[in-house]
Amino acid sequence: MGCVRTMEPMSAAAKRVLLAKPRGYCAGVDRAVETVEKALELYGPPVYVRKQIVHNKHVVATLEEAGAIFVEENDEVPPGSIVVFSAHGVAPEVHEQAKQRDLKAIDATCPLVTKVHSEARRFAAQDYDILLIGHDGHEEVIGTTGEAPENITLVDGPEDVKNVKVRDENKVVWLSQTTLSVDETMDTVDGLRQRFPLLQSPPSDDICYATQNRQQVVKEIADDCDVMLVVGSTNSSNSVRLVEVALQAGSRAGYLVDYAHEIQESWLEGATTVGVTSGASVPDDLVTGVLEFLAERGFTDVAEVESVKEKLTFSLPRELVRDMKAKEAAQASA
Ligand code: SF4
Repeated sequence: MGCVRTMEPMSAAAKRVLLAKPRGYCAGVDRAVETVEKALELYGPPVYVRKQIVHNKHVVATLEEAGAIFVEENDEVPPGSIVVFSAHGVAPEVHEQAKQRDLKAIDATCPLVTKVHSEARRFAAQDYDILLIGHDGHEEVIGTTGEAPENITLVDGPEDVKNVKVRDENKVVWLSQTTLSVDETMDTVDGLRQRFPLLQSPPSDDICYATQNRQQVVKEIADDCDVMLVVGSTNSSNSVRLVEVALQAGSRAGYLVDYAHEIQESWLEGATTVGVTSGASVPDDLVTGVLEFLAERGFTDVAEVESVKEKLTFSLPRELVRDMKAKEAAQASA
């Protein structure tokens, strides 16, 4: 994939920033955040949100200020209330609990996570052993596993391959979490295939376009960077992966920060080129804050490096759109 530098490269001695593009919000995060905003507008606060809507401190704090209440489980939501399920997806039993509690659920699961859920159900219906590559305890993994708990075995990276047991080596498929490192996942798949030569692959990539694109551009610039600053939260899988990918691809150092003020002056000592990117759940104003911080320290020349253009958008959850239209119609006839 070629890359486009939208500004002329600076001389080697100049202090410069290579700003990765695409970075920040993906289509699934954009939709999930807008879902909570629209729900607050339509129903009024409070709107309950099960788990962090997306894994970003700043986004969660901003929605809290607007009237969203974040909970861990449905049983913390008063019966009859609105509850939004996060972008990471939920197991079918969570929908069932919401029904039992008479909650009005709005499902903001990213459609690309829903796709993995469907794959899990389809292979489970054919009684495959499904090897789900992902991080133990991550919400998305818990949700996907809940679709077919009897058939799914978690494989948490290449080191975990040796522990995997299957019932029938002729009927094994791998699926994955959407936000993993592409290269590490392929290492895990190679290891699994050595053990199970008939291992089948998912019908299409489970690691989503946004994760892949953000890693791709980081790989393109990493070798030129003394330091890579990734804006994102520590519980954001795709953000953490960006630091790892940067280091593997040649950046001399790499750090994850939620806010510009977390950057330590010592990280920039002797650096002439700083890479900047952000995870898929990060609003761009946080990146602007980092660029301002760097500019104050002489890193005023910013070259945006673009590896691919993203155009994907997702429509809002059906149940929300239905209520928005009903309100519009009621207002029009009033
Ligand atoms: S990172 Fe990928 S899977 Fe997750 S919300 Fe964004 S587009 Fe969807």
